[in-house]
Amino acid sequence: MRVGIVKLASCSGCQIALLDTYEKFLEIADSIVYAPLVKDARELPSCDVILVEGAVRTEHELKMLKDAREKAKILVAFGSCSALGGISGLGSMFKPDRLIADVYGRELDHKLLDFAYPIDRFVDVDYYLPGCPPTPELIAKFIDGLVSGNVEPIDYPVCAECGRIVVHTKIEAIKKTELPDPKICLLSQGYVCLGSVTRGGCKAVCTKAGVPCRGCRGPTNKVMRLPCKDYLTEIHDRIERIAGFDLKFEDLASIYAFTFSSDIMMNKPVSKIREVIRMGRIGGGKT
Ligand code: SF4
Ligand code: SF4
Ligand code: SF4
Repeated sequence: MRVGIVKLASCSGCQIALLDTYEKFLEIADSIVYAPLVKDARELPSCDVILVEGAVRTEHELKMLKDAREKAKILVAFGSCSALGGISGLGSMFKPDRLIADVYGRELDHKLLDFAYPIDRFVDVDYYLPGCPPTPELIAKFIDGLVSGNVEPIDYPVCAECGRIVVHTKIEAIKKTELPDPKICLLSQGYVCLGSVTRGGCKAVCTKAGVPCRGCRGPTNKVMRLPCKDYLTEIHDRIERIAGFDLKFEDLASIYAFTFSSDIMMNKPVSKIREVIRMGRIGGGKT
C-alpha cells in the first residue's frame, strides 16, 4: 500500500495524532511515500490512499487538492478542518481582505478563497475521519479498517460514551468556569455541552475530564440529514428541556462550531450558522 499525506490549511495536529498511534504508525511508516511532516519527498506520486489534512483556503491549496484526488485511489478527509471546515473554517467569519490586512499586513503570494472550505466542496471523498484531531485510537482503528477493507461507520452521539447521568434541573445561568459534578450530565448542570448532537467515537474524552464537548467530530448523521435539525437550535431546545434555561442565540453562537464552512450544515433551511457568519462579517468583532 502506498500512502500519501497532503497538508492544506491546517495546524498539522492531525498528523501529530497519527504519529501518536505509535506502533500503528510504525506498521505503515514504510508505506508512506509523501508526507511533508515526516518524509522528505518533493512530488506527490500516485497512491493507494491519500489522507488530506486541512481545509481549502487558497487557490494553491485547491490545486493541491485536485492533484491529490487525481493521484489517489482512496481519498480521506483527515480531521475536522478537511471534513467540516473545522478551526480553519472560523476564518470564514471574516472577509478575506480584512483577514489579510489584520493578520499579515501585506499582499499574500496565494489568493485567499472567500471561505475556508471542507474538501468535499471540490472533490469526491471516499472516507471521512473527523476530529480535532481524531484521537489516536480512532486513527488506528481507521487504518485497520482500510487494510482489512472494512471501515466501520460511527454514528452514535458522544453522549453514548459519556456515562454522565441526565437529571432535570432548573438553572439560573450558564456556567463556564466552576468545576462540574463528575457524574451529572453537564447540560443538566448548566454547561453548554454539544455531545448530544456530535458524532461519537472519541470515547467522550472531554466530558469524562469535566470539559463540555465542543463538537469537534461534527454532527451525527441524524443532525446532518434531517432538514429540520440544526446543530445550534437542537442544543438550545435540549438545555431548555433539561435545565429549564432559555439560552440566548448570541451565547450559543459564541460556542465554537466546527461546521461553519460545511455546506451540509450551512445550507440547511433551518441552519443558524449563516447568522453566526453574518454576525462576524457584519457585526461582532473584526469584519
Ligand atoms: S482538525 Fe484540528 S488538529 Fe487537525 S489540522 Fe485542523 S485544527 Fe489541526
Ligand atoms: S450532553 Fe454532554 S455531559 Fe451530557 S451526557 Fe451528553 S456528552 Fe455527557
Ligand atoms: S468530546 Fe466532543 S470535543 Fe471532545 S473529542 Fe469528543 S467530539 Fe471532540
